[in-house]
Amino acid sequence: MSGIRTKLWRIEQHRDATGLREQLLEASARLRAGGLVAFPTETVYGLGADARNADAVERIFAAKGRPSDNPLIVHVASIAAAEALANEIGPVERRLMETFWPGPLTVVLPVRPGAVSPRVTAGLDTVAVRLPAHDIARELIALADVPVAAPSANRSGRPSPTLAEHVREDLNGRIDGIVDGGAADVGLESTVAMVDPDGAVRVLRPGGVSAEALAAAGFDVAPADADDAAAEDAGAAPRSPGVKYTHYAPKGRLCVVEGAPEAVRASIQARLDADAAEGARTAVLAFAPAPPGAADAYRGAHKLIALADAPGDAATAANRLYAALRACDAARIERLYAEGLVEPTGLGRAFLNRLRKAAGHRIVTV
Ligand code: AMP
Ligand code: MG
Repeated sequence: MSGIRTKLWRIEQHRDATGLREQLLEASARLRAGGLVAFPTETVYGLGADARNADAVERIFAAKGRPSDNPLIVHVASIAAAEALANEIGPVERRLMETFWPGPLTVVLPVRPGAVSPRVTAGLDTVAVRLPAHDIARELIALADVPVAAPSANRSGRPSPTLAEHVREDLNGRIDGIVDGGAADVGLESTVAMVDPDGAVRVLRPGGVSAEALAAAGFDVAPADADDAAAEDAGAAPRSPGVKYTHYAPKGRLCVVEGAPEAVRASIQARLDADAAEGARTAVLAFAPAPPGAADAYRGAHKLIALADAPGDAATAANRLYAALRACDAARIERLYAEGLVEPTGLGRAFLNRLRKAAGHRIVTV
């Protein structure tokens, strides 16, 4: 599918308020009219459509090549708009919204029949709802004045877009427009959570709101599996159908190497040496790599990408991960090695979840 002219709305940083509003009015009118409009959020770029309009929602699945049993997150601009989508909102769900909205937390609620197209919920009796913190996203949704179904604005199986340019790479000619609002902030998709019957908050997908942040805010958090990425892919979280798909995969074969820093570096170097003998194009995704020319920099890698500037800096790594995977695709890298040098806590948990999934669970512990 191609041939649609994809309009680009550039929201320059210092644009005056009137100009900004004009652009967003035009983009929101497209949404209201059943169009597909990609927009920035604080997590990643979303591909939006009116969640009540079955044809518009259908076009999301077609443009992305997304499996139809994978439900969509509905984005709203106020808690009142979320109330209109749900049958009822329990006290814990309400407190989650009041504590973490606007922000990167998606809450699964019992759907109010008829509130959104059944295509949005993929036939489930629940709907996943989020109020994004990004100014442009909130204003666009408020102006459109409809609930906006919006998965990540990438072709299915590709890394999520953290820049408007990534959206163009994947969806130019397939969607009506892209609102360019610069780089996404968190860089990973939202935390998806639901409340168990006993009141505990269950994280179905880790993200920008960590289990630690939930606990610190006084929520009772249901225990997660040690490696939630593997558990999800093995089908341990059937309540969130999307997590079973191999998302975020680069075209080359990615392997995550975890362990003590020195051992990790030695293991990756040995793999690069073996790959060089075979003539494979390789890349290393490193935490705080040594400066070029230093004795312990990786030898023979075609590409050396710094995911962070210091070991263990999960926030920077989360922010750079998807762009790094796309850069490797663009450079036709065949084998990627990632240093798994981050603690599986806080945002580090979400980062490792996405990294391990991107690697199809090729994880080496040294
Ligand atoms: P994406 O929009 O591509 O980031 O994926 C949306 C995520 O939200 C997937 O992992 C879905 O499984 C999850 N999700 C959407 N709707 C629901 C729902 N009603 N119940 C549980 N998980 C959901
Ligand atoms: Mg996605």
